[in-house]
Amino acid sequence: MGYTIQQAIIPSELDYVQADVRIEGDRITAIAPRLDPQGTVINGNNHLLLPGFVNAHTHSSEMWQRGMIPPRPLELWLAELYDFTPLNPEQLYLSALGTAVETLLSGGTTVVDHLVIIPGLEEESVDAVIRAYREVGIRAFVGPLLQDEATTAALPSGGDPRTHIPYLRSTAETLELLATLVDRYHRPDAGIHIMTAPTGMQLCSDALFEGCVELSDRHSLCRHTHLLESKAQVLLAQEKYGYSAVKHLQKLGFLGTRTSLAHCVWLEDADIEILRETGSTVVHNPLSNLRLGSGIAPVLKFRQAGVNIAFGCDGAASNDSQDLLEAIKIGSILHNTNDFEYRNWISPREAVQMASLGGATGLGLADQVGTLTVGKKADLVLYDLTRLSLLPRTDPIGLLVLGRPVNVVQHAWVDGRQVVQDGRVTRIDVEALSQELFAQSQWQSQRRSPGAIEMEIAYRRVMKLA
Ligand SMILES: [Zn+2]
Repeated sequence: MGYTIQQAIIPSELDYVQADVRIEGDRITAIAPRLDPQGTVINGNNHLLLPGFVNAHTHSSEMWQRGMIPPRPLELWLAELYDFTPLNPEQLYLSALGTAVETLLSGGTTVVDHLVIIPGLEEESVDAVIRAYREVGIRAFVGPLLQDEATTAALPSGGDPRTHIPYLRSTAETLELLATLVDRYHRPDAGIHIMTAPTGMQLCSDALFEGCVELSDRHSLCRHTHLLESKAQVLLAQEKYGYSAVKHLQKLGFLGTRTSLAHCVWLEDADIEILRETGSTVVHNPLSNLRLGSGIAPVLKFRQAGVNIAFGCDGAASNDSQDLLEAIKIGSILHNTNDFEYRNWISPREAVQMASLGGATGLGLADQVGTLTVGKKADLVLYDLTRLSLLPRTDPIGLLVLGRPVNVVQHAWVDGRQVVQDGRVTRIDVEALSQELFAQSQWQSQRRSPGAIEMEIAYRRVMKLA
């Protein structure tokens, strides 16, 4: 049984080789110039075989608002986003399917869903997206977005203290909820992981972070959070702690080798050193950072310091897509403008490694996936190099990363199971999904967000905009 991929092009140290690759069960069991064909034989001729990428930060439910929110900074954008959520579990299910499909068809085999949970329907929310990820067959890390402070508290006060309505759930109740979700849904053997994922320091108490650390230590869970995405959050950290948010997370014990941190745009050199020291991973979301004007994360500095980096699409309302190859391209060339020393720039091969092994490392899976290695799990993607967007023939990885590849994922496997065949997701009906997404939405270009209007007044004052 299993698969034999014949004569695929695979990267070697500096060049490429052609090789046969065998998949048995959930593993890569052999890589050699020639292997006896066993199981299903796959023609890898003129195809590039790479380890699957990790979409290391997204929010699947945002798909319902993509293309919709006007150009606004994070805080105003969020206020508008919140005004039009929550959705119902059925919609969460559909947008998780959509997120998984777009991730798979752009080279991803693992998705990290920092999930919006519907108040009162928390378990149903997690249930819905996990059902979707299991159906599609993608490896999934689901981190329910947790907060225990009012959404308005995310903005610095600017020395003008405001009062906030207490959050709908207490810290203790929130941690209890998370513990229940872990018991019910955390199934690493089945490729479904629950993460402890407080939204970010802007909305979470120390007690919530500490409770998450305790729970993640007890169950060996990954930790995930947003960190210093916007300038306003730097000011907030100063008000809240009197020093950097990175230092504070370190004090709370939240950082570590199984911790991934979305954005990290506004970090000082001392913060970068803390990330290196603790072995934490930065998830770079370049399109979201550009879309929301958050800034450009100092990714070249992270690399020079030896901090592990992964790529994320971020939610589809701040991107507004889930095309991982696009995020990898922008996320690697964006930094060339920040450093005249071109030897520090990110090469296409390095970008591929960040997207695969970098992603796996941040999830504590570096020994299991992320490279083409015998004994590792077969999370693999085979790209068709005869597609127009990858022609004429030059350097396969250069074409894939620097070009604009269209419909190039020919086959993909997760845990040894084929989830994309001949460019089509095999385990769900994508046509039916499209029809559902169409039927459950409508064309709309104008809507009024009372939350954003209210937030704008405070935002302009704090950020000293006239
Ligand atoms: Zn995010």
